[in-house]
Amino acid sequence: MILLTNNEGTLGVPTTARLLTQGHAALDAIEAGIRPIEADPTVRTVGRGGWPNLLCELELDACLMDGTTLRTGAVGALKGYLHPVSVAREIMRRLPHELLVGEGAARFAQEIGATPAENLIEDSRRVWRDWFDRTLTPAQKQAWPNIPLAELCRHAIDPEKGRDTTVFLAQDKTGAVGSGTSTSGWGWKYPGRLGDSPIVGAGSYADTRFGAAACTGAGEMTIRCCTARSIVLYMKKGASVGEAVLEAVDDMRALKTGLISRVTIHAIDTRGNHKTVAVNGDGTNVYWLWEGAGDPRRCPAEAIPLR
Ligand code: ASP
Repeated sequence: MILLTNNEGTLGVPTTARLLTQGHAALDAIEAGIRPIEADPTVRTVGRGGWPNLLCELELDACLMDGTTLRTGAVGALKGYLHPVSVAREIMRRLPHELLVGEGAARFAQEIGATPAENLIEDSRRVWRDWFDRTLTPAQKQAWPNIPLAELCRHAIDPEKGRDTTVFLAQDKTGAVGSGTSTSGWGWKYPGRLGDSPIVGAGSYADTRFGAAACTGAGEMTIRCCTARSIVLYMKKGASVGEAVLEAVDDMRALKTGLISRVTIHAIDTRGNHKTVAVNGDGTNVYWLWEGAGDPRRCPAEAIPLR
């Protein structure tokens, strides 16, 4: 058994580790670990309390992958529900689809009786309002929201740069591997923007034969490189988990234009090994590792420059 999650996963570590110890399936343990993080308004980059998009709306993304069946369930730009990860789980269970977004995702959430929630908290609204007052011209304010948003999104600054999506990777007692992600995405993003968290193969991937990987940070980069899937594929081709992650980092070096920023990669294999690196990190990234017994350990991620 193993559990690897990032600092944003702190709240869920005891639950996931306990469920794995009790013999629960990896995916059940991952979903149960992510739910309290989504509900906690003090985790400002996941679920309730997250940072809004340019229109001050909270759009949430989440994904689960069952490494044994290769089934996935993902939601993108979901508004108004407390647990995107559980909506994602029900997509996997009830639909012949893998990913629902926007209005369709909200409709499905309502259909299955998912818990509705006002996820935008007062402090997020205040910080957004402050940005609006400082950044927009009087003419833009008057015409709001019927103005072009593209330039605003280009210059938007995440109020909590360095804080991330939560990602969970786990292997259960039977050896089955799973992955999970949940996020409010990039603060001040263009409405409808999906990051890598709901995109299978970019933000996460799990395959019980080889291992699993998940990413946080600039989703635009891992979408372009299919980072999580690449890592698992490199392992299939014989690379160790460490080599596979470094190979995926090397793939990112081919990115010449577009958003080039920070990405943290987490990966496990099926033999209890792991690797976590912070690409363009500043040395402050930490992650949680639980190796099937004893207490979970908080470890520093290895910082790697991209250039
Ligand atoms: N990867 C997420 C996204 O691109 C954000 C993050 O982890 O900071 O939406």
